[in-house]
Amino acid sequence: MRDFKGKKDSRDFKGKRPRGKMMMRRKVCRFCAEYIDIDYKDANLLRNFVTERGKILAGRITGVCSKHQRILTDAIKRARVLALVPFVNIY
Ligand SMILES: [Zn+2]
Repeated sequence: MRDFKGKKDSRDFKGKRPRGKMMMRRKVCRFCAEYIDIDYKDANLLRNFVTERGKILAGRITGVCSKHQRILTDAIKRARVLALVPFVNIY
């Protein structure tokens, strides 16, 4: 139902986002899907959720749900104290 002649109808593009950031599929939370326990001692797992500079990645980037993101953040912070995950990585 698109009418290209005549007035522009912005509703045509609702939810389509013709331009902008890459079209991202909604990722499903890994911890919900695979029933993984977030363990602060599991440095290899936690490293997937920090940048190479050591920052914690936002849940909207990794696809982790808010519940698990909160647990994950606590786990990463705890792991940092134990020096399993770096506070900052300087190259
Ligand atoms: Zn989850």
